[in-house]
Amino acid sequence: AKKQGRNNFQVYDVMLDAKAYEEMQIENELRKALEREEFVLHYQPIVNLCKNEIKGAEALIRWENERVGKVPPDQFIPIAEETGLIIPIGEWVLKTALLQLKDWHENGLENLTMSVNLSIRQFYQPNLLAMIREAIELARIEPCFLTIEITESMTMDVEKASVILRELKKLGVGISIDDFGTGYSSLSYLKRFPIDHLKIDRCFVRDIAENKSDENIATTIILMAHNLGLSVIAEGVETASQLKLLRQHRCNEAQGYHFSRPVPAEEFARIKVSS
Ligand code: C2E
Ligand code: CA
Ligand code: CA
Ligand code: CA
Repeated sequence: AKKQGRNNFQVYDVMLDAKAYEEMQIENELRKALEREEFVLHYQPIVNLCKNEIKGAEALIRWENERVGKVPPDQFIPIAEETGLIIPIGEWVLKTALLQLKDWHENGLENLTMSVNLSIRQFYQPNLLAMIREAIELARIEPCFLTIEITESMTMDVEKASVILRELKKLGVGISIDDFGTGYSSLSYLKRFPIDHLKIDRCFVRDIAENKSDENIATTIILMAHNLGLSVIAEGVETASQLKLLRQHRCNEAQGYHFSRPVPAEEFARIKVSS
């Protein structure tokens, strides 16, 4: 028995090494990904449920590398955050997304907005505000067409974040709270930050048509947000029955596979909204 235990331990050790090795390889490749131009942005429509039309796009990063293949953002963004690579990557995302938006504005999609995810780590970058201003100027768009999406994080310096968010608000940039309801301090965020939109996390949307208590949670979030003067975006809408319920409860906007998956820029203009 003793011998077997030891073997098991060795197997476990080897597996740990394999995982650590993979992460190290991802990190090494990630360091060269920007200059090799391995990132692209995909865009997912955000649909206004009153008008039944596309109101905006959310930019979502994609990475494909020769050695490590396609790595989803949930896997490489945390590594980019740990290593600080999120700073140059985040700048590339913002500039690329806003230049794309400018192109759409000039080609028939005049009022489209662009939502860009901002990592909490970027709030510790000393020149974040200057970088955002520069990206807006570079693309020559009005700041009100940009929305920043932030998630809650336990490691966040709330004081620092609220100073930056207030400056962004002054500039006219929109602010969304992403994945609302999944964190630790959602409600205190609403009190402390100048939020415009709240995105209901898709875990609360998934079963709303089958599960009464999930429906109650979603409708309560919508009511609360409206009482605070915020608009509500439902994430992860995949079916017509989810959409119908969200409409009934006066959810303002929706996003999800029901309308479209995130797609390359060339495909975005061809998306048609189905009700
Ligand atoms: P998120 O900001 O919550 O983005 C929504 C995620 O849900 C996206 O996954 C999107 O593809 C997926 N999704 C959209 N509609 C549906 C649906 O109907 N059903 C299901 N099951 N999923 C849906 P994705 O693109 O893999 O991104 C994952 C996360 O990675 C994002 O979550 C965001 O936190 C992060 N991320 C992506 N791009 C960036 C970026 O440019 N910067 C930063 N800092 N984070 C990013
Ligand atoms: Ca988001
Ligand atoms: Ca989200
Ligand atoms: Ca998320």
